[in-house]
Amino acid sequence: MQKENTYLSDIPTGEEAIITKVLGHGAFRKRITEMGFVKGKKVKVIKNAPFQDPVEYEIMGYKVSLRHSEAELVEVVSIEEAKNLSGISFQGTIDEETLKVSALKKGKIINVALVGNPNCGKTTLFNQSSGSHERVGNYSGVTVDAKVVEVAHQGYVFKLVDLPGTYSITEYSPEELYVRTHITEQKPDIIINVIDASNLERNLFLTTQLIDMNIKVVIALNMYDELKKTGVDFNHKALGKMIGIPIIPTVASKGKGVEKLFDKLIEVYEDRDATVRHIHINYGEVIEKAINEIQTEIWKSPRIRDKYSSRFIAVKLLETDRTTLQILEKYDNFEQIKTVAKQSIAKLEKEYKEKSETVITDAKYGFIDGALKETLRQPKPDKLKTKRDFDTVLTHKFWGFPIFLFFMWLMFQATFTLGSFPMSWIDSGVGALSDWLKNTMAEGALRDLIVDGIIGGVGGVIIFLPNILILFFFISFMEDTGYMARASFIMDKLMHKIGLHGKSFIPLVMGFGCNVPAIMATRTLENKKDRILTMIITPFMSCSARLPVYVLIISAIFPANQGIVLFSIYFFGILLAIITALIMKKIAFVKKEVPFVMELPPYRLPTLKNTSSHMWHKGKEYLKKMGNVILIASVIIWALGYFPRNISLSRNYDVEIANLKADNSIRNDLKAKLIMQTEIEKSSEIQEKTYIGRMGHAIEPILRPLGFDWKMGVSIISGLAAKEIVVSTMGILYQADENADENSETLKTKIKEQKHSSGVLQGQTVFTPLVSFGFMLFILIYFPCIAVIAAIRKEANWGWAIFTMVYTTVIAWLAAFATYQIGSLFI
Ligand code: GDP
Ligand code: MG
Repeated sequence: MQKENTYLSDIPTGEEAIITKVLGHGAFRKRITEMGFVKGKKVKVIKNAPFQDPVEYEIMGYKVSLRHSEAELVEVVSIEEAKNLSGISFQGTIDEETLKVSALKKGKIINVALVGNPNCGKTTLFNQSSGSHERVGNYSGVTVDAKVVEVAHQGYVFKLVDLPGTYSITEYSPEELYVRTHITEQKPDIIINVIDASNLERNLFLTTQLIDMNIKVVIALNMYDELKKTGVDFNHKALGKMIGIPIIPTVASKGKGVEKLFDKLIEVYEDRDATVRHIHINYGEVIEKAINEIQTEIWKSPRIRDKYSSRFIAVKLLETDRTTLQILEKYDNFEQIKTVAKQSIAKLEKEYKEKSETVITDAKYGFIDGALKETLRQPKPDKLKTKRDFDTVLTHKFWGFPIFLFFMWLMFQATFTLGSFPMSWIDSGVGALSDWLKNTMAEGALRDLIVDGIIGGVGGVIIFLPNILILFFFISFMEDTGYMARASFIMDKLMHKIGLHGKSFIPLVMGFGCNVPAIMATRTLENKKDRILTMIITPFMSCSARLPVYVLIISAIFPANQGIVLFSIYFFGILLAIITALIMKKIAFVKKEVPFVMELPPYRLPTLKNTSSHMWHKGKEYLKKMGNVILIASVIIWALGYFPRNISLSRNYDVEIANLKADNSIRNDLKAKLIMQTEIEKSSEIQEKTYIGRMGHAIEPILRPLGFDWKMGVSIISGLAAKEIVVSTMGILYQADENADENSETLKTKIKEQKHSSGVLQGQTVFTPLVSFGFMLFILIYFPCIAVIAAIRKEANWGWAIFTMVYTTVIAWLAAFATYQIGSLFI
C-alpha cells in the first residue's frame, strides 16, 4: 500500500507545500480556486494550530485564512515529498519550477475505482487493464477486500481499485458499506461504473446513486457482445448525453474497448469531455420539496456543504440512512437536520403510504425507465415488467396519441358537464344572497357597493370554482397516477418541433384551467429558457375565466354553430402559442439542445385524499385571486361606473316618462315600451358620463378600427383585472339585470340589438359576426390578467412580465383588426 494522501491541514506552521488537487463541492470549490488554490501552486502555512480555526496561509503573495475543515479538502505534497518525487537528494534550495513539476507528477496519479453489480465483469476488466503489470496489492477490510493495481497509460499512472460487486450503495451488506466508504473517504478521482449491458435496468440503479453523489463517473458498458447478440438497439451515446456520463462499450473478456476507456478517463480527469455534466434526478414534486427542506437546513452549516453534496445527503437522509446520520453527528446543527429529516420522512410516508426508501427507489426506477424508453429498442416486449405493462399501450407508437387525446377530451368534457351542476347551485345561491341583501339593507351607496360591486363581481367569478376544481382534480389525478409523465413523453417529439419539450406540456394543459398555477408549474422545467418560453405562451391557452365571454357571445351571435366557433377560438389560441414559440425559438431562445431524462415514475393508484389535497393546492391560488385581485377590481369597476353621482343629463328623462305615463292617447303596450325605452336611454346616458364611460370613450379611437364600441372598450379595460369581470361589466353596461351572467336571456337579446351610438357606424349593429369573433379573439389574446402577470414576474422577472403585457395586447389588436378589416372585404 502506498502512503495516504497529505492535505493542507496536515502541514505545520511555517512550512510550505504544493497543491495537487482541490476536493470538495459547489460554492466552496469555486471560491477556493478563485483564491488561487489550484494545482501546482505553492502555499505557505502562516499559522496552523490543531483544532483551532481559522488557519492562515500565504498563496501567491496573499494571506488568506481558511477553516480547518476547508484545508482538509486541499490535497498537497509537502516540500519533502516533492523532493523525493523529483529524485533530488541534496539538501538546500530547490527552485520553484522543479517543485511544480514534481507536484504535477504527483497529480498525474489518477485514482480510479471500479464499481458495479456482481458479475458485470469488473474483475475481468481489472485483470485486462493490469495485464502484465506487476504490483497488484490488496486493500483489506473486515470481511471484504479489494485489489489495487497501478497501470500506466498516456503519461498518467492509474491507481485502479477493484471494489466488491454491489447492487446499490447503501449500508445493508459489508460490501455495500465498503464501496461506499471507499468512495466517500478515499475520494477516487473517477469512478468506472461497470454495467452489464444485457441487464441495463437493474445495473443503472447503482448509476443513479452515483449521480446523486455528484462525482466523476465513466460508464464501461460491458458485455457489449451479449447486447449485440440479442438484437437490441441501444443508443448509448444518447443515454450518456442525457445523464451527463460518458459511456464506453467494452467487452472485458476480450479486452475490447479497454484502451478507449482509459483514454476517456484522461479526458474526464482533465475536464476535456463535453458529455460530463452533473444532472439532478427529478424525484417528483413531493420528494423534491422534502429534499429542499433538508438542504435548507444543511446549508446552515457551511462545513457540511463544502465537503458533501447537500442533495446527496438529503436524499440519503430520506432513505433513512444511518451512516449519513453518523457522518453528520459532529456538526452543530445535527439535531435540527435530524428533526427536519424526520418530519419530511413522515410527510412522505403519509403521502405515499410506503417507506420513504421505497418511494425513492421507485422514483429512481422511474428515471431509468424514462432514460431507457428513449434509447433502448427491445426486439420484443420486455416480459419482466409487471406494473409497467401499461406502458406498452399508453406510450405506444401509434395508440399512445389517440389514447392521450381521448383522456384530454374526457377531462374537458367532465369539467364542463359535471361542473354545470354545482355551477347552477352557486349561481342561485349568489342570486338569493343578493336579493336578500337588497331587501334587508337600506337603500344607498353601501348597499349598491355590496350587492352590485362585491357580490356582483366576486359572485360572478365564484361560479367557475367547481369547473376549476374539477379540472385540477383531473390534472392532479393524472399526475399522481403517473400518466401525466407519459403524456409528456408522448408529446415530447411534437413539442421539440416548437423548441420546447414534453415537460412543458403539463403547464400548458393546466393553462386551460387557470394560467396562474400553470405558470407556477413551469418550475418543473430544469432549463431557464424552457421555463420562460413556456411561461410566455401559456396565456394563449384559453383559461376558464375567458369561457363565459365566449359562451355569451356565441350563444347570442352564433346560435347555429356554437361548438365549431368555440373550438376555433381555443384552436386559434393553441396555434398562436405554436407560432409564438417558433418565432421566439428563432430570435430569443436560440440554444444548444441538452438532452435529459424524462422520468417515468411507476403507476400508482392515488388515494382520493392525496389527489384532493393536490387539487386543493392548485385551486388555492385561484381562490386567493378571488379574495384579493378580483374583489378589489370589482369594487373599482363598480365605483368607476357609480361615480360621479351628480351628472347633468341632456334631457329631462323623468319629466318625459311622467308625460308618457299621463298621455292617454297611446296604446298601453306601446306606452310601456316607450317608457322602457326612455328609461334605458337615461341609464345609458348616465353610464356614458360616469368615469368608466369616459374611459371607454377615451380609448374608442383605438378600438374603432376593430369595429368595437366604447362599451366593449370598458369591458376590455375591466378584464385587465380578471377576465371573469368582462361578462359582469358587459352585464352592467348593456343594461340587463345587475346579476348578469352568460346565460341571461335579456343580456343576450340586448347584445344582439346593440347599435353604435356615435361615429360613422352610428345606428348600425355593433355585434356583427365579424366584430363578435374579433372581440372573442381579443379577449382570448390580450393582457392575461393581473394575477398571471404577477406570477410571471415572480417566476421570471419584471422584464418578462412587461413583455407579456405588451406583446399579448398588440397581437390581440392585430388579430381583431385583421378579422374585422379582412372579413369586411368579403362580407
Ligand atoms: P465481477 O463479479 O464484476 O468481478 O465479474 P467477473 O469479472 O468475475 O465476470 C463475470 C463473468 O462474466 C466471467 O465469466 C467473465 O468471463 C464474464 N465476462 C466479463 N466481461 C465480459 C464481456 O464483456 N462479455 C462476455 N460475454 N462475458 C464477460
Ligand atoms: Mg469480481
